[in-house]
Amino acid sequence: MLRGRGHDDEKVELECPECGVKVETTVEKAEKGEVTCPRGHRVAVMGLLGGAKLS
Ligand SMILES: [Zn+2]
Repeated sequence: MLRGRGHDDEKVELECPECGVKVETTVEKAEKGEVTCPRGHRVAVMGLLGGAKLS
C-alpha cells in the first residue's frame, strides 16, 4: 500500500510480457514507467502499481 512517498525502496515484482520472467524491481524504478527484464526486454509498468499488491 502506498501512502504518498516514502516507500520508494519497496520491492515489487513484475512479469515480463515478452518472456514471462519475473522482474524484481523497486517502487522507485517502477514509478518511472518502465523497467528492463533480465533478458533485456522493456516492461511497461503503466497501471500495475495502482492495484498491485506490494509486499
Ligand atoms: Zn523479458
